[in-house]
Amino acid sequence: MELELLEPTPPNHPAVESSNGASNSPSSSVEKPAGSGPKSVTYENTPPLYESFVGLEHRDLRRDDFWAEIPAYADVGAGEFHTHTFQAQHSVTNVRQLRDTLGNLVPESFYADVVEGIKRAPMALRISPYLLSLIDWTEPYEDPIRTQFMPVASRQAPDHPELHLDSLHEQQDSPTPGITHRYPDKALFLPIDSCPVYCRFCTRSYAIGGDTEMVEKLKLSGRAQRWEDAFTYLASRPGLEDVVISGGDTYNLKAEHLEMIGARLLRMSNIRRIRYATKGLAVLPQKILTDHAWLDALTRVVELGRRLHKDVVVHTHFNHPNELTGVTQDAMDRMTERAITVRCQTVLQNGVNDTPEIMQLLVRRLSYINIHPYYVYFHDLVPGVEDLRTSLHAGLNIEKHVRGHTAGFNTPSFVVDTMGGGGKRDAHSFEHYNRETGIAVFTSPSVKPGAFFLYFDPLRTLEEAQQRRWQVAGESRRMIDEALEAAKATVALSAEANNQFHPGAAQPW
Ligand code: SF4
Repeated sequence: MELELLEPTPPNHPAVESSNGASNSPSSSVEKPAGSGPKSVTYENTPPLYESFVGLEHRDLRRDDFWAEIPAYADVGAGEFHTHTFQAQHSVTNVRQLRDTLGNLVPESFYADVVEGIKRAPMALRISPYLLSLIDWTEPYEDPIRTQFMPVASRQAPDHPELHLDSLHEQQDSPTPGITHRYPDKALFLPIDSCPVYCRFCTRSYAIGGDTEMVEKLKLSGRAQRWEDAFTYLASRPGLEDVVISGGDTYNLKAEHLEMIGARLLRMSNIRRIRYATKGLAVLPQKILTDHAWLDALTRVVELGRRLHKDVVVHTHFNHPNELTGVTQDAMDRMTERAITVRCQTVLQNGVNDTPEIMQLLVRRLSYINIHPYYVYFHDLVPGVEDLRTSLHAGLNIEKHVRGHTAGFNTPSFVVDTMGGGGKRDAHSFEHYNRETGIAVFTSPSVKPGAFFLYFDPLRTLEEAQQRRWQVAGESRRMIDEALEAAKATVALSAEANNQFHPGAAQPW
């Protein structure tokens, strides 16, 4: 087979200034090896050309003036639109602003649908002009970005009968306000309770953003003292090595706070690894390009970590390939130049990314711009967003198609963050899963030995007869008890087998 080897084409980047004032195009600052022109090479036994069966669509990152389609932004130039200040100042937080921004792009019935949707939503509305402009307003009901950020009553579904607010029990595992300590060597630190946008499906809807008609939020107030209490706790646990700094979103921390928190943690002798969690790259990548103080502060923490031989990374959150554009690539180029590692945690969502093709494209596109796909979470049970959940069975099928599609280090693990505080479990590791009732049972021997944790498929994915069973008084308890008994029997069997082959070995219970 004859292959043509061509010099890579330098990416075409728009003119947004980087923090040192230089053009952001890597071609301006990175020396490319001298080209020697196309060569023809003949190989024996080559596999089929990769691009001939998966395509190269993942490299198609939008660089058009997509925001000009939105009436309110039609006269806004790229230089102004692609600043974090414009994005923050023009974020849409209510239906009046939405109407002022979109005008006649959608019919009045759509606005009425959003008004009703917000009444039943656990999260307040907040969406950046960037995200708003990436929505296909000719098909708003089908658009994956609209689906995630803007509730519409006509698509909402009743909550699962077993749903409870804070289903992950973060508050029960909280030794001091703003700290969740569940895993032996890792803790979650929530220094802030706001975000640049609000996702409909936020697991921390019990605390994040403003109150809604449905949820009065837990207030993480008294910041200075609360942070000091958190530092005291984190330093007091010798076995604690890993801290996730989340929120809210660390994008909303001031540069000096971002740096202070990172430096305080890195200087604790027990802490070896810290992670900043931010959805910012997905919803407002302009901040990386124009908020120089913030990126410089992050860079200094990464450099401090390197000097102390400790690990500092960023965890971000993309759910659909449409969320990645040329601006995201530019932002990631800045991060790569500063040797900042970025990993992605995705949430599997009905109507957003619940097909093998979309998930494969997302994984390839993330990998292409140096974001490592790390986790795909099955959707937590969160009030008001049952329409977004998928079944365990559907997710496992998608995982099968994603694995093997690219390098292992760029292949995300599909995990269930179990209800009741069992932590993240590999989605395949259930002890029992009844596809008819939609009940899965997991164990978590290293987190809560001896305990069983449940996950429930959405009722709409079950046969109608099974859906009706969930409505009969007492029947749900019976189904859950049966599932728990089956899981216990499986665990007992494997303990017996373990004992047979390793007599005297400690059991996981
Ligand atoms: S950015 Fe994260 S913390 Fe904020 S609303 Fe979205 S999911 Fe929740």
